Order: sequence, then C-alpha cells, then structure tokens
Amino acid sequence: MSDEARPSPTIEDYLGVIYTLARDGERVIGARLADSLDVSAPTVTATLKRMERDGWIMIGVDKVITLTEQGRTMAMSVIRRHMLTEWMLSRVLKLPFSELHREAHHIEHTLSSEVEERLKTEMDDPRFCPHGNPLPGFEDEVSQWQPLSQVSVDQDVVLKRIHENIEDQYERLTFLEASGLTPGTRIRVLDRMPFNETMRILVDGKPVTLGLNLAELLYVQLISLDD
Ligand SMILES: [Zn+2]
Ligand SMILES: [Zn+2]
Repeated sequence: MSDEARPSPTIEDYLGVIYTLARDGERVIGARLADSLDVSAPTVTATLKRMERDGWIMIGVDKVITLTEQGRTMAMSVIRRHMLTEWMLSRVLKLPFSELHREAHHIEHTLSSEVEERLKTEMDDPRFCPHGNPLPGFEDEVSQWQPLSQVSVDQDVVLKRIHENIEDQYERLTFLEASGLTPGTRIRVLDRMPFNETMRILVDGKPVTLGLNLAELLYVQLISLDD
C-alpha cells in the first residue's frame, strides 16, 4: 500500500488498538475502544462509521468490529512503525525507558515506508518492541511466557514483556523503570498476598511490592534450577 493511501493518525491509532484487542482474544466493540483510546462513546461511534465507509473495518450485527484485509495490513504497518520508532528512540537517542512509547506515538504516523524499511534493518529486524510486545507476525513467540501474578513462590524468572496496556500508563511505567523492572531483568517471587492483592518479588537483591493487577500484565519466563 502506498504512503498516500494512509488514513489519518486518529484512524491509524484505532486500527492499532483494534488489532491488539483482537490479538488478545477480546471482544472488540465500541465501548472497549472508547476505554482504550480514552475518548467518548459518541466520538468512537462516529469514527467507526467513517472507518467502515472507507473499508478499514466491518461492524457485525452483534456490534463486533473486525478488520478488513486492507485494515489489517494498515494496522500491522502502524504497529510496526510504532515499535521500530521505540527502538530508534531507545538505541539512538537513549531516551529513558518510560518515555519510549509516548514519544514514538507522536512520530510513528509520519514515517514513510522507506524509512520504516531502513529502520527495520538498522534496528536488526526486531521481533519485539523494547517493552517485549510482539511485532505483527511474531505473536506466537510470546505465547509461552506467563503472567508474573501466576508464578509460584521461590521461583526464579526473567521478565520478558510489559503488556501494551501499561505502555501508555506513565505512572506505572516510571514505577517499573525505577524498580529495575524492564525486560531481561531476573526476578524471584518472594511471597503472594491475595488478601492484599499484592505480591513481593526480589529484583537485583531488592524487595519490591507489586499490585497483582500490575503483575498480571508482566510476562515472564521461568528459569529452571539447572540453568
Ligand atoms: Zn508502545
Ligand atoms: Zn513498546
């Protein structure tokens, strides 16, 4: 698809969110989008009508939104551009981890396909964004990682992924960054307190208390004892 055929940044954002919700097996309806995109329900309804008219999505009788072939191709391109931009900001400009998503969000819409291709090569063809979320086409590779909230006490794990849902939550991200919780970090689960909805983990010898609802969105790989 040529760069001229691209929709507005707003529509690109909708396409990205629809793709990600569907990927996670969620029921993609207007209310869910209003929630994710932090806009009013009437605004979402109006935008979705335009998107349907322009051939990006289909809205079923049950109100469930699905991407057309054209919509899916564009959604994958938006997400790819976003994730490659995050890597560029991280590696070239050395921006703090907590700033990557927010800054990339402003730039991603303006990248031409040529620059996207160039970035892909320069950033060594990544399969995940700096937060560990999969580039389109690599979704299967994250399926064996499990939520930290489900890991047993005394288990050692490596943090692999911070789910997209947290990427735009600045307070949570800065907390994770300040606690040393970025992908690649080794963690031991100390204890879990379901009655308190928290768990304690050891990060670099330092205990950190996490809410279970946050731990649910951190994906880890178990380290076996022989490693
Ligand atoms: Zn992001
Ligand atoms: Zn990311």
